[in-house]
Amino acid sequence: MQKGAELYAGKAKTVYETDDPDRLILEFRNDTSAFDGEKVAQLERKGMVNNKFNAFVMDKLAAAGIPCHFEQLLSDNESVVKRLDMIPVECVVRNIAAGSLVRRLGVAEGMELDPPVFEFFLKNDALHDPMINDYHIRAFGWATDQEVETMKALTFKANEVLKQMFLDAGILLVDYKLEFGRYQGGVTLGDEFSPDGCRLWDAESRTKLDKDRFRQGLGGVVEAYEEVAHRLGIELG
Ligand code: C5P
Repeated sequence: MQKGAELYAGKAKTVYETDDPDRLILEFRNDTSAFDGEKVAQLERKGMVNNKFNAFVMDKLAAAGIPCHFEQLLSDNESVVKRLDMIPVECVVRNIAAGSLVRRLGVAEGMELDPPVFEFFLKNDALHDPMINDYHIRAFGWATDQEVETMKALTFKANEVLKQMFLDAGILLVDYKLEFGRYQGGVTLGDEFSPDGCRLWDAESRTKLDKDRFRQGLGGVVEAYEEVAHRLGIELG
């Protein structure tokens, strides 16, 4: 597969075309950002760790029947993925209260959410990714009703698989964000699943093992990601 022109550079990944119109190459960079790009840093090894973390998780989700864009690792920092027509919404599931939920509703961080909470956000940095609901998605034509139902069902299905997978490694899956796109008439999971886009706490000590270490200036960011990878049995090389 031949790597082609750069298609898009996001805050932590760059997307390249390939000689196959249905395939893209995702490059995971060491760049790390928070607060809509206000806080940025280069974190040694993060691109490699997230690339391999994402490959491991997407393989688990695909094995559970969730259509995923991930196809194969190409190098330490690159993966081959299917080319999706991305739906511009973020799907968040929360098992434990943290982050923006705590700020918005004034509830205590760490409160268990049973049943879990589902939220949609619009992917728009300039507007600070505002929270939206099914009615906004319908009114503005961002996705069809059927796509909305599929995104919700797949996001909850991922929760069942991932909650148990992390728990088996002594880790609580607090919350996470997924993004979907259209591929050959169906809805497929795109983007990435890594500690950049979820919250993971040690089940006993509740130590944060995710990007909140960067957001909150706690240090040891990549070391925490590597600790999670190690506990899951991910080969980092
Ligand atoms: O900030 P908030 O609490 O709404 O985030 C919920 C979850 O979604 C967190 O795990 C966070 O890392 C993730 N997220 C993300 N990208 C965003 C917004 C949230 O990965 N743009």
